[in-house]
Amino acid sequence: MKQQPRVLIVEDEPSIAELISVNLRHNGLAPIWAGDGVAAQREIDAMLPDVVLLDWMLPGQSGLALARKWRADARTKAIPILMLTARGDEPDKVAGLDAGADDYITKPFSTQELLARIRAVLRRRAPEQAAETVTIGDLSLDAATHRVTWHGRPLKVGPTEFKLLCYLMQHPERVHSRSQLLDKVWGDHVFIEERTVDVHVKRLRESLGPAARLVETVRGAGYRLTAQATASL
Ligand code: CA
Repeated sequence: MKQQPRVLIVEDEPSIAELISVNLRHNGLAPIWAGDGVAAQREIDAMLPDVVLLDWMLPGQSGLALARKWRADARTKAIPILMLTARGDEPDKVAGLDAGADDYITKPFSTQELLARIRAVLRRRAPEQAAETVTIGDLSLDAATHRVTWHGRPLKVGPTEFKLLCYLMQHPERVHSRSQLLDKVWGDHVFIEERTVDVHVKRLRESLGPAARLVETVRGAGYRLTAQATASL
């Protein structure tokens, strides 16, 4: 018999945690509750969950800090994290995704919505990863060491921007729509708004500096990485 997916709920409000737990249990999932980061870490050390529902506002370490910590640890970096946030504004959502959350859900949410997100995260495909170095013009990316260089000099690129750049460099000269990029780079993230892509493309260009012109906006269509970029700065 297939084991029930284990869902670690990191939530400091017992009433919310209890409500979520009951609903998950009724839907064939195995909830485990942790009231703060310390308790959550204890659970994770004991056994890796299949999904983490991570509240943003927690006593002690914030959900954001926990997401970052787990993403930085080889043992926990692949655990899907679904961020629970009471804040609805874009910068926070982007910060959550940057910290390594796979998706977010804004409180108050319905049980159906939560279950849909959990299922999506559970079946999500791992984002495409390259095992080798890709070079386009003077821009190089090493997927194994997570390094990006321009004319041999290292560039500092954030984790989401790195994944985005990796995908674009592996599929150059082609136009990718925002929804295609969400699908290929973020995985099965049907709930993320398309303008999130624009936010990360903007950041990617900022990180690339002089190489930013390789990332072209194709009006009305999406984005393309091209070696044919002319010096039309
Ligand atoms: Ca809270």
